[in-house]
Amino acid sequence: MKIEDKIADHLKAIPRSGIRDFFELVIGRDDVISLGVGEPDFVTPWRVREAAILSLERGETTYTSNLGLLSLRSEIAIYVEKFFHISYDGSKEVLITVGVSEALDLALRALLNPGDEVIFHEPCYVSYSPSIALAYGVPVSVATKKEDNFSLKPEDLAAAITEKTKVVMLNFPTNPTGAVASREDLEGIAKLCIENDLIVLTDEIYSELRYDGGEHLSIAALPGMRERTILLHGFSKAFAMTGFRLGYACAPEALIEAMMKIHQYGILCAPITSQMAALEALKGGEEIYQHMKGAYRERRDFLVSRLNEMGIDCHSPGGAFYVFPDISKFGLSSQEFAMQFLEAEQVAAVPGTAFGECGEGFLRCCYATGMDGLKEAMIRLERFIGTLS
Ligand code: PLP
Repeated sequence: MKIEDKIADHLKAIPRSGIRDFFELVIGRDDVISLGVGEPDFVTPWRVREAAILSLERGETTYTSNLGLLSLRSEIAIYVEKFFHISYDGSKEVLITVGVSEALDLALRALLNPGDEVIFHEPCYVSYSPSIALAYGVPVSVATKKEDNFSLKPEDLAAAITEKTKVVMLNFPTNPTGAVASREDLEGIAKLCIENDLIVLTDEIYSELRYDGGEHLSIAALPGMRERTILLHGFSKAFAMTGFRLGYACAPEALIEAMMKIHQYGILCAPITSQMAALEALKGGEEIYQHMKGAYRERRDFLVSRLNEMGIDCHSPGGAFYVFPDISKFGLSSQEFAMQFLEAEQVAAVPGTAFGECGEGFLRCCYATGMDGLKEAMIRLERFIGTLS
């Protein structure tokens, strides 16, 4: 017996994450400056950690309702109304999940029949295409372009819609480009979704991390969209809570109910300690993440100006904590550039192709790393590109 033959065919067809491959080369090397993993370098604010500790001290160690603690769902509904200007009923239109990752998987599994097409914009978060395929859907990517600051143009979306399209997936601000969508583009996208009767799955995990005074606008807040949108959000990024593994989905009751069916059999409920911590995070709100956001903005400005100064074209992203410089002029593929930079200068940045083919010619640098590391990384990058010409 060959054990590999027992693995499901549709899983065998899915490649390993390009990020993972790259980072296996870096693991265990403490000489490397990492601009790699998309994870805040801040520890979860004390107030939130303390809430988790106090909850444990009180002996709160049980399952919760499958949907999650009602107190947390109600607080999420208040937060979403204030922040996204969309109103949901916390008792039946909010589902607490194990990160946005689980919510994404649930939403796709709840919506797709085999062969349904899901359109998403690339470069994108590494899990989108595999998650669609794992739910027996057909991933259809639409390339976004540097000249559009990597926003999704309605005309490009329109060209990808077919009779089989069921879902459009959005992620603004975007991992890995930091792109944000203008109101005009979102309105164009919304119009297409309404005309073609499509569901929108919008991953807004970076929504608090908007810079330059830009206010976050969710497509779910546009007229006619709430009833066809699943809004995904979570605590990993702005609140620096990746390890708590907590996210949520807001949607009309029928969709939440469908997602909950999968969640209750597969997961049961999100951990109570994390739910209690998240409740505290929401009570603290903006005050809790403002200092981190300020630091990210400062780092973004530093990186963008240093990169452009050394002749590497890099747009200033409106959100998230990534820059996506264009390294195509050096005549190396993204993979070659990243590997040679790592070998020569011990700095890890992710090849753009890890986020889709149209990421060729780019590098993703995550600035959720202290300023000292970023400064040193830029000195090393300048030295490295000096050896290329
Ligand atoms: N969505 C995007 C766009 C991300 O960048 C990430 C993590 O990097 C996730 C979802 C996963 O988030 P979570 O930690 O909530 O599962």
